[in-house]
Amino acid sequence: MSELQTFRMLIGGATADAASGAVFETTNPYTGAAWATVPDAGPDDVDAAVSAARSALDGEWGSMTAFARATCLRRLGDLVAENAEPLARAEVADSGKLYREMIGQLEALGSWYHYFAGVAPTIEGRQIPAPNPNYLVYTRREPVGVVAAITPWNSPLLLMTWKLAPALAAGCTVVIKPSEHSPASTLRFAELIDRAGIPAGVVNVVSTNDRDTAAHLAAHPGVDKVAFTGSTATGRAVAKAAADNISKVTLELGGKSPQVVFPDADLESAANGIIAGVFAATGQTCMAGSRLVVHADVHDELVRLIAERAATIELGDPEAESTEMGPVANAPQYEKVLGYLETARAEGNTIVCGGGPDAGLGGYFVRPTVVTGVTTGSTLFREEVFGPVLAALTFTDEDEAVALANDTPYGLAAAVWTKDVHRAHRVAGRIRAGSVWINAYRVVAPSVPFGGFGHSGLGRENGVHAVDEYLEEKSVWVELSGGTRDPFTLG
Ligand code: NAD
Repeated sequence: MSELQTFRMLIGGATADAASGAVFETTNPYTGAAWATVPDAGPDDVDAAVSAARSALDGEWGSMTAFARATCLRRLGDLVAENAEPLARAEVADSGKLYREMIGQLEALGSWYHYFAGVAPTIEGRQIPAPNPNYLVYTRREPVGVVAAITPWNSPLLLMTWKLAPALAAGCTVVIKPSEHSPASTLRFAELIDRAGIPAGVVNVVSTNDRDTAAHLAAHPGVDKVAFTGSTATGRAVAKAAADNISKVTLELGGKSPQVVFPDADLESAANGIIAGVFAATGQTCMAGSRLVVHADVHDELVRLIAERAATIELGDPEAESTEMGPVANAPQYEKVLGYLETARAEGNTIVCGGGPDAGLGGYFVRPTVVTGVTTGSTLFREEVFGPVLAALTFTDEDEAVALANDTPYGLAAAVWTKDVHRAHRVAGRIRAGSVWINAYRVVAPSVPFGGFGHSGLGRENGVHAVDEYLEEKSVWVELSGGTRDPFTLG
C-alpha cells in the first residue's frame, strides 16, 4: 500500500498541525482507499486562525495600497496557473472529479485573481454634494474585516476562489475552512500564499473533520463576514450563527435548475447541453440542470437523444483521458443518490436509462439516469439530488413552461432552448434564477455575477460588484467654517 501524503494547515503565516495533534484521513472515492492525512483542527485552532487574521488586518496588510494588494493577487493568479497540475491531482484524489475537467478549471482559475487584481484599485468612495452649508461630505469604502470562507467538496478551489479573490481585493483577511470530504487541494493552495508576497495571517486555512468546529468558525465573534457555499440546510445554520453576531453573510446554496426546451429548439444541441448540465461532474454541481421541462411535442424525441448519449457515457478512472464521468464523491452522497432513485421508483416515475450503481465498476459509481413521468408533486421535481439524475416533465404552452420552471423554492440557474429570439429573452426575463443560459449551459466567468434567488442563496459572487460584499461604506462629514452651532438641534 502506498504511503499516505500529509498536509498541514496555514495559520498566521506558518504551517501548522492541529494543536491537539489530531489528524484525519481523506479517501479517494475511485479507489476507496485513504490517500492523505490532514490536520483535524479543533476550536482552539480556529481561534488562533481568527486571531491571526485580525492581527494581519491591523498590520501591514491593512496599510497596503490597493495597487500593492493587486500585485499580490496577480502573483497568486500566476502561481495557481503554474501549479494547476498538483492542485488538480489533489482535487481528483479527494473528489473523484475528472482530471481533464479539473486541470482546465485550475489552469483558468488564475484569471479570477487577475480579474480582481484589476478591480482592487478601482474601489472608490464618492464625494457627495454638501447637503448642509459649510460641509464637505465624502464616502470611503473599507474592508469589512475578517472573513470566514466555508466551502463544499464539489469544486473546492473554484468556490474558495470566488470568495478569496474579491475579499483580498477589498482588503479583508480570511480564514478558509474546506470540506472534510475534500480538504487537500485547499491545503496545497495555502503553500502558495507566502510565495505570492501576501503577508502572514492574511490568508489562513484550517481543516477539520468536526462539523462543530466548522460551526464554531461561522459563529465566531471575531469574524465579520461569513462567505459560504454548500447545502441549503447548512447555509440556514450558518446564516443564523452570523445573525447572532450581526455579521454579514453571503450564501451560495443548492438548486433544482430547470432546462426549458421549446419545440423549435435544436434538439441535438439541447440534448448536448442537458448532458453537460446534469451528467458533467457526475451531476455534483450546485448549478446542475436537473429538471427537464420540455414541450410535449418533442419530449419523446429529446428523451431518446439524451438517453442514447447517456448510455454511451464512459464511466471509470477520473485520471484517464477518455473517462467522461467519475464516481460520486463520497459514501454518504452515494447512498443519498441511490435513495432518491428508490424514491422515484416508489412514486411511480419511469426510469428510462441508468437507475442504479454500475455493477461492473463497483465503488461509488451511479449510471447516468433519466427519469420521466415526473409530476410537480414528485420528490425528484422538488429536491436537489446532487448526482447524475435528470427528472423530466412536459408542458404545452409558454406560461405553463414558466410556471413549472419557477415552481421551486430554489432559483440558482436555468436554461432556455429555442431558436425564437423573442421567446428566448422573454422567458429568460420571467424565470426566477440568478443565471439563465440561452441555448447553452454551465458557463461561468470571473466578470459575470453568479448566485441565487430564493433558497439558492444570498448575495452574488463574481463580477465587479462581488467586492461590494466585502466592503463597508463610511460617510465622512467635514465642517469647513470652523464655527459652532446650536448643539440642541440635528445638523
Ligand atoms: P454541507 O452544506 O453540509 O457542508 C458545506 C461546508 O459547510 C463544509 O465545509 C462543512 O464542513 C461545513 N459545515 C457543516 N456544518 C456546518 C455548520 N454548522 N456551520 C458552518 N459550517 C458547516 O455540504 P456537504 O457536506 O459538502 O454536502 C451535503 C449536501 O449539500 C450534498 O448532498 C449536496 O446536496 C449539497 N451540496 C450543495 C452544494 C452547492 O454548491 N449547492 C455543494 C456541495 C454540496
